Amino acid sequence: MSAATRHGGPDFGADAALAELADEARLVGRAAAAECDLQEDSWLIGTSREFSLELAARGWLGMTWPVEEGGGGRSPLERFVVFEALISEGAPVATSWFADRQIGPTLLQYGTPGQRRRWLPDIVAGTSGWCIGMSEPDAGSDVASLRTRAERHGDTWVVHGQKVWTSGAASADWCYLIARTDPDAPPHAGLSEFVVDMRSPGIEVRPIVDATGNAHFCEVHLDGVEVPADCLVGTENGSFKQVMRQMEHERGGIDRLVSNRRLYLDVLPAADTTDLRVRQRIAALEGFYRVGRLMVLREVVGQAPPGWSAITKTACTEFEQRVADFCGSVLGAEALLANRVSRNLCYAPAYTIMGGTTQILRDIIGNRMLGLPRA
Ligand SMILES: Cc1cc2nc3c(=O)[nH]c(=O)nc-3n(C[C@H](O)[C@H](O)[C@H](O)COP(=O)(O)OP(=O)(O)OC[C@H]3O[C@@H](n4cnc5c(N)ncnc54)[C@H](O)[C@@H]3O)c2cc1C
Repeated sequence: MSAATRHGGPDFGADAALAELADEARLVGRAAAAECDLQEDSWLIGTSREFSLELAARGWLGMTWPVEEGGGGRSPLERFVVFEALISEGAPVATSWFADRQIGPTLLQYGTPGQRRRWLPDIVAGTSGWCIGMSEPDAGSDVASLRTRAERHGDTWVVHGQKVWTSGAASADWCYLIARTDPDAPPHAGLSEFVVDMRSPGIEVRPIVDATGNAHFCEVHLDGVEVPADCLVGTENGSFKQVMRQMEHERGGIDRLVSNRRLYLDVLPAADTTDLRVRQRIAALEGFYRVGRLMVLREVVGQAPPGWSAITKTACTEFEQRVADFCGSVLGAEALLANRVSRNLCYAPAYTIMGGTTQILRDIIGNRMLGLPRA
């Protein structure tokens, strides 16, 4: 059975080779996930340097990047089936995920040839871990109000400030940081992007323990951190446009649909499918799962209109919350014990917060796609 048929959707030109690739990724993902305590949210909290190297050895990092940039030159559909399978199985892809999903594409679009030569090879080789230093204590949804500042001193930028909720910061080698470089410009016009070496003097990382007991995200304090001038990416004071593009890579992918797919599949056999209400819920979830896949695929095959990732992210992450809720109701009182289901129930509110909250994304849909008058 082809991967497309198995998921109940059109195949978008998928052929036998693509189905074989998906099957291979599923087996690799299953084997790797079996070694992990948790299979849920593996693209965010499943860190493994070892598995990063395995992904690289299989040519599964930078898969779609141009060959002349060190990438695999393969099709977006190939990358889609590989990561759909890996993340659905719960494979620990987090160490390389941010770089593969958005930092690499950002460097390809905005980086200088020297920057691309410097950072892309290690990403493709699976030897570098990255984090994203965007949010601050008083600047989450409203990125334009961030206060971390970078001041130019000769060939160096000196950075002072604090980031928060920085996923993977404790194990990252590099941080893709946004800082204010022109304090006199309008808020959204004075921001620039830097690649910062996480071993630089002046950086202190403090992990934050979340409601599930996990500590994947962190506070990052920057006190006089020196960043070489050639680490500024793209246009000085031009971050706002760049970051909006980066967020599209972050929001519209398959990771937003299948974070807890493995949990759902593991819990499903325990559901009472003779109960009419349970059958209704399963049909609704499976129905949306197929629609969500098509939403992601529309982006993957390059046929989505601008802003589509906001629609995909809101719809698919609300679906992930319904999956958590369903798993909780299947387990009943057992979901009050510490187990994968209760952990996912505690974690589920995060789905519609990280990467831009549902309220902010609906605002974007209203303003930019529907042309509604601004509130
Ligand atoms: C698991 C997880 C991982 C994360 N990882 C990272 C990371 O790696 N790097 C990083 O930089 N950040 C990360 N974040 C931070 C995330 O991007 C922010 O939490 C998010 O953008 C919201 O910002 P905030 O928490 O400051 O909430 P706020 O912006 O303070 O919002 C609070 C509430 O007010 C609502 N709200 C705010 N403004 C409006 C408005 N104009 N209209 C309607 N409603 C509004 C929001 O929807 C929300 O419900 C992560 C967050 C989570 C939960």
